[in-house]
Amino acid sequence: MTEHGRFGIHGGQYIPETLMNAVIELEDAYNRYKDDPEFNRELTDLFNQYAGRPSRLYYAKRMSEDLGGARIYLKREDLNHTGAHKINNVLGQALLAKKMGKTRLIAETGAGQHGVATATAAALFGMECVVFMGEEDTRRQALNVYKMKLLGAEVIPVTTGTATLKDAVSQAMREWTSRISDTHYCLGSVMGPHPFPTIVRDFQAVISKEIREQILEAEGKLPAAVIACVGGGSNAIGSFYHFIDDSEVKLIGCEAAGRGIDTFETAATINTGRLGIFHGMKSYFCQDAYGQIAPVYSISAGLDYPGIGPEHAYLHDIGRADYVPVTDEEAVEAFEYVSRTEGIIPAIESAHALAYAMKYAPTLSGDQSIVVTVSGRGDKDCVSVARYRGEEISE
Ligand SMILES: *Cc1c(COP(=O)(O)O)cnc(C)c1O
Repeated sequence: MTEHGRFGIHGGQYIPETLMNAVIELEDAYNRYKDDPEFNRELTDLFNQYAGRPSRLYYAKRMSEDLGGARIYLKREDLNHTGAHKINNVLGQALLAKKMGKTRLIAETGAGQHGVATATAAALFGMECVVFMGEEDTRRQALNVYKMKLLGAEVIPVTTGTATLKDAVSQAMREWTSRISDTHYCLGSVMGPHPFPTIVRDFQAVISKEIREQILEAEGKLPAAVIACVGGGSNAIGSFYHFIDDSEVKLIGCEAAGRGIDTFETAATINTGRLGIFHGMKSYFCQDAYGQIAPVYSISAGLDYPGIGPEHAYLHDIGRADYVPVTDEEAVEAFEYVSRTEGIIPAIESAHALAYAMKYAPTLSGDQSIVVTVSGRGDKDCVSVARYRGEEISE
C-alpha cells in the first residue's frame, strides 16, 4: 500500500529542504530497526512491563443486552499506563530515538495528552524533553502543563497563529530543523511527512494485533466491525490495521462533528474537508474558501485537529473504511450511558466511537460482534462534560 511514503495520492514529504536530512535519517533508522528482533523484544517488554499490555478486550454485556443486536466488545486502551493509547507510540519512538543516539525528545501537544505521554517516556529513558503547546491550550489545560513539568519536561507556549495545536506542530517542526543532531521529534499521531504516518501506525498496530487474537479466542470468528474515534487517526489506524485485508470486517472511523457538519463549529475532516497540503503531507483538511486551514471545534480537545492522517484519506478514497460524523451531544450522551451502564468512564474522544456503536450494534444480529476501541479514560473530561450539562465543578 505504501510506496515512497504515499497512500494513494496522499502522504508524501512536503517539507523544507532543511528538514530533509532529519526525515531521511529517521527513515533509515526505522528501516534498520523495525524488523530487528532485539528492538522488538525491548519494545514488547516495555509494552508489557511498563504500559500494562496486552490491554483487555472486554465483553460489554450490559450494553449489548440493553441495546440489542451485535455483541459489543470494548478494547480497553484506557487501562494503559497514562490512561490512553498514546503511550504505545511514544514508547516506540523513544526507543527508536535512543537507538539513534538521540538524547532529547521534542513534541507538540494540544490538550496535553501527547505531551504528558512524551514527558513520561522521556523520564523513563532519562532523556531531555521539550513540549510545544499553544499558549491558549496551556491556559485551558493547566493540569497537564503541571504534569509535564513534574515529569521533568520543559513546556514552551506557542504564540503564533491561533496559539493552538496546529501552531504547536509547526513550531516543533521548526525547532527540529534547527537541532537535529541530538533531538528526535516525537510526533503524536499518524500525520506529518513520511515516515511518521507509517512509524506511528506500526507502533499503534499492536491494538489490532491483540484485538484479532482476543476476538478469535472469545467469538471464534472475526468481528462484523471495528469502530474507533479519529483525531489525527492513530488509535483508529492501530485498531484497523490487522483487519484491512479482511473485507468482511467493516472499519468505521468516528469524526468529531462538534455542533454539526452543517455548521462551522466542527472538526469532521473527511465529512467537511478538502484535499490540501499541510504539516508536510497531502491529505484532507478543513479549509476556508481561500484554502487556509479553518479553525476547528469539538467538545473533545483530542479530536480537534483540522486534518486526518494520509492512510485514512486513502482508505476513504478506496471505500475500505467509512468515516462518520458524531456530534458533541451524541458523544456526551454516550459518555454518560457507558459510565452508568458498564461502570467505565470513557474519554470524551472515545465516546464518539461509543456513540456510533450504540446506533450501529442494534442494526446487526446477535450472532455478530463489534469491537469499539476505548482510546482513553474519561477522568480528564468530567469537568468539561459537567459544564456542557450546565454544572460547574471545580478541579
Ligand atoms: C489524542 C487522543 C485521541 C485522538 O488521537 P488519534 O491520533 O486520532 O488517536 C483519541 N482519544 C484519546 C483518549 C486521545 O488522548
